[in-house]
Amino acid sequence: MYTRIKKIILKFIPRKYLFRYEYLIRYVYYLNFMGSKFQCNICDKKLSGFIQINNDMICPRCGSIQRDRRLWQLLSDEFLINDITILDFSPSRSLFRVMKRGDHRYESTDLSGDFLSDKSYDIKNIDSGNENYDLIICYHVLEHIDEDSKAMSELLRVLKKDGCCIIQTPFKNGEIYENYSITSPEEREKHFGQSDHVRIYSVDGLKNRLMKVGFQVEIKNYFRKDPNINGFSEKETILICKKYK
Ligand SMILES: [Zn+2]
Repeated sequence: MYTRIKKIILKFIPRKYLFRYEYLIRYVYYLNFMGSKFQCNICDKKLSGFIQINNDMICPRCGSIQRDRRLWQLLSDEFLINDITILDFSPSRSLFRVMKRGDHRYESTDLSGDFLSDKSYDIKNIDSGNENYDLIICYHVLEHIDEDSKAMSELLRVLKKDGCCIIQTPFKNGEIYENYSITSPEEREKHFGQSDHVRIYSVDGLKNRLMKVGFQVEIKNYFRKDPNINGFSEKETILICKKYK
């Protein structure tokens, strides 16, 4: 139902108007989910439930998915300090909107045009000076990038000393799986799980690549607690990457 409505809306409303009026459109949908059992920690709305789709839980009000809400909790608890400068790669619209309201300088960047963004940086050649950002968020981006070590070096370069880059991708067990001879969208979908992905990382594989370019990496695992009021996923792994020199 949710997917069908979304498809119809996307078909008839141009993306720029959709982004502008999304909050109003979602309000109508949210009226069916008013309640008190659950609460989205991004928009703070109390809900009767989340929209269950593709093993995810979507907030009917702001559209956040499970990993957005976990990230927002992590950022709020540990990283968001007044006056810091933040760069966020292709953020979800729910996070973009809430981050823009904080007492920090927040810039988002995206090359695809599918996200709300202030900049359009090429992650392999970021058009920014050295050591500009206190915090970088790079969520579900690196698995799209062919020369990922170049991107990692650029993230390190534009990060301030003692700054932090928060990274997540889809993960598998074992080794990183990549094969550059696989180029068609159909084959990539089959091998890497999405038509525009070029690999699947393992947690340790990604950690090793990040350490190779100079990051100090801490692996953090988060587990869902019951009752799952905020609609988190069962388990999430997030890499906290620091620059010490
Ligand atoms: Zn929400």
